[in-house]
Amino acid sequence: MDLKKLDYSLKTPQERKALVEQIVKDASPNQLTEKYIEILSNYIIMAMDKEEKKKKEIMTDNRLITINKRETSYQGLVSKFENGEDGLYNITIENDKNILLTPKVAISPKDVAEIPALADLKESIEIVKKQEKKASGKNKYKLKKMLIEMYQEQYTIKNMVKQPIFATNIAKSFVHTRFDEHITIGEDGLPKSDCICSFFNPKHISVLLCNYSTLKQECWDKFDSDCYYMMMDLDNLVDAALEKKFPLYYDLVIYKIDGRSNAEIQFLLELKYGIKHSVEYISSLWRNKIPKLIADTATKRYLEWYYTMVERGKWKRCSRCGQIKLAHNLFFSKNKTSKDGYYSICKECRNKKNKEEEE
Ligand SMILES: [Zn+2]
Repeated sequence: MDLKKLDYSLKTPQERKALVEQIVKDASPNQLTEKYIEILSNYIIMAMDKEEKKKKEIMTDNRLITINKRETSYQGLVSKFENGEDGLYNITIENDKNILLTPKVAISPKDVAEIPALADLKESIEIVKKQEKKASGKNKYKLKKMLIEMYQEQYTIKNMVKQPIFATNIAKSFVHTRFDEHITIGEDGLPKSDCICSFFNPKHISVLLCNYSTLKQECWDKFDSDCYYMMMDLDNLVDAALEKKFPLYYDLVIYKIDGRSNAEIQFLLELKYGIKHSVEYISSLWRNKIPKLIADTATKRYLEWYYTMVERGKWKRCSRCGQIKLAHNLFFSKNKTSKDGYYSICKECRNKKNKEEEE
């Protein structure tokens, strides 16, 4: 694409914006690379900066470009978003009727009135919404993606300005909640808990991890509360699930709890393990895989306890590692052709074997 089209004799952002709009209109979608859009944005922003100094006023349209430009770094946004709000908006602990952690934070008209950046963003969202309606094809997709990010950005802005008061509220209710738990074994052979916060549920684990520091702080001297023991159990469970078997995940959890950004974690993990994972992957481990592994470990531990202490379970020895494990589909994969319905090699050994064959 021809950058000479950018006419630097145009002085006002409006003129430059009109030119950019024309260029964008004439361009084919694959010409609009991120790099090129950035150049176009800069072209307008430079004029805006000059004018802003004169008029001391931010034009909404140009403000939009500034925001867009900041958001060209999607990874930056994701890590900012995560560290800013630790997943509280996306995750709720719920169990049928009971809801412990609900997203209490919404963007209220009062916020918009009090935070100028938020008001600007709201206006920009309206503009992009209109553009998105008219657009088609790849541009429509791009604008849609931009809209989603802008919506998320609202929370980031609000969090930066107003410190997250919700955290203490949640922690307070957490401390005063009784986590009575009745566990039954379902027809699928898995334990079911009626507790509003259950270690068997990866979502609940995720919320606990995301709010770990706050909850831990709130509970540390409340020896007579359920939450104190729950956090202690969680510590043990995380150790059991990750420390030896998944050292990289274990480190990731510790870095996250320390409040490090995904970019920092990426760097630290690369330093220690010599593998560079993308920040998206790190984020997905933190949100999905790790909570799932921990919940899985909690489930297995409960079953082992239950079939030792409460009811006599069926156990079998793995023909490979020699360990005696529960004859249960969490430990052995089902196999219709075998006498007891399970493979003779345990799941862990099978996974290891499959991995080695892949390599
Ligand atoms: Zn085995």
